[in-house]
Amino acid sequence: MVESFGHIVGGHEVPSVDGATFQSVDPGEREPWATVALGSAADADRAVAAARTAFDEGPWPEMGYPERAEVLHRLADLIEANAEALALADTADMGKPISETRGHDVPRAAQNFRFFADHAAITAAEAFPMASGYHAFAQYGPAGVVAAIAPWNFPLMLASWKVAPALAWGNTVVLKPAEQSPASATLLARLALEAGIPPGVFNVVHGYGPGSVGQALTESPGVDRITFTGESNTGRAISAAAARNLTPLSLEMGGKGANIVFADADLDQAVEWSIKAVYTNSGQVCLAGSRLYVQRDIYQEFLDRFRAAAEALVVGDPRDEATRIGPLSSREHHEKVTGYLDLAVRDGARVLTGGRGPGWTVLPSVIVGAGQRDRVTQEEIFGPVVVVLPFDDENGAVQAANDTPYGLNAMLFTKDLSRAHRVSRALRVGTVWTNCFFVRDLRAPFGGAGDSGVGREGGAYSREFFTEPKAVVMRI
Ligand code: NAD
Repeated sequence: MVESFGHIVGGHEVPSVDGATFQSVDPGEREPWATVALGSAADADRAVAAARTAFDEGPWPEMGYPERAEVLHRLADLIEANAEALALADTADMGKPISETRGHDVPRAAQNFRFFADHAAITAAEAFPMASGYHAFAQYGPAGVVAAIAPWNFPLMLASWKVAPALAWGNTVVLKPAEQSPASATLLARLALEAGIPPGVFNVVHGYGPGSVGQALTESPGVDRITFTGESNTGRAISAAAARNLTPLSLEMGGKGANIVFADADLDQAVEWSIKAVYTNSGQVCLAGSRLYVQRDIYQEFLDRFRAAAEALVVGDPRDEATRIGPLSSREHHEKVTGYLDLAVRDGARVLTGGRGPGWTVLPSVIVGAGQRDRVTQEEIFGPVVVVLPFDDENGAVQAANDTPYGLNAMLFTKDLSRAHRVSRALRVGTVWTNCFFVRDLRAPFGGAGDSGVGREGGAYSREFFTEPKAVVMRI
């Protein structure tokens, strides 16, 4: 059965202004599974106007934090009650193994709403008692209309990471999910209406980026904040568009995470976490540990164990609970990732294990013999492909880890606490995981250095971005 998804604007599910549609292709079946409204600039304008009206006329921005929190918790309850439909929507859109959409993405989406609802409700604002008979304090009012532009690799989870704090702080939102993954955003907006979020507070528009609805959102003078997650080059285009209206933006972009395994690491644990770091979501993770630096003393032993673990991963149907590696998100993406495997060989490296799998699948792949400056070591491949390189000492490892334009995250495995502190400090990244991967505290700053990001989100960092902090000074 082919499903149908419209835009959600002003509390209604509507077709495009010009009636255009496109299809979302299920990468597991390699067949269209949904017909989706295809937005244009006119649809962006209509959604921004609905969000503006909802912001100006209320009641959402003026509601108390506890009242908003109550509604957002109701939305979280509904996400949990509809978990299976949401998990299947993301799996159908982009092929993520159902064990991940069920086990991680959907629960994290509910958690994002609960966390930001509570965070906004209990956060105190600063007061600045002044000695001279004056008194100052900070107010955190909503910024206004937020445009949220999301990628396809964690469709529901990353949409909620933006929508939840924006709503909790009293903004209204226009979300544009990626064209590859429109379904869960629509389901989320339907549930938001059911939860009692007023019409126009949370709108969704579908369609493409450049020259289309996405670009129109970023150029709109009616938008007060742009929060974007996606590729670094898209971030550059969005920065240029936002500059015209001086719209503040938050950019969470690509990565080429270094994973450094020191000789003193617990090897069983290092292998287990490193496998997760590379192959979660079939490697389509901005935070993937796609450069694996292993100290020379243990290089061969680690590589043998890592290869065996990679070859043991279950590759198959994304709807099968046992599957760990599903298809890549699209034919084009499959071509891009397999193109990097061919490039590695042309540049003189070796694909130790992996390669093309059935359909749009790429088997868990390990590249050895590449150089630090090779394209496979420098560029984001965004698939189940790791480049493994040996290193001799701590300085060499840090230098190599810092040697890409990206700076999203790094992992390190060691039992030496002092070294863990030293290396964490020396790495030019937004997140360092020591002896683990992907573990999050939603209060902590999240974002990237270099080409990986501008700004930070999470806890109070999201508050800074989604509000217009105001100083109020009084003579007393
Ligand atoms: P993408 O940049 O191609 O698209 C992301 C979104 O931007 C989509 O909704 C797309 O339609 C829209 N878009 C594209 N061009 C636009 C334009 N000119 N104006 C406005 N909108 C535009 O990225 P993707 O392929 O969907 O996602 C994969 C990328 O996202 C990878 O680089 C990955 O590392 C990155 N990512 C980063 C994080 C993070 O937290 N740093 C998280 C997940 C993914």
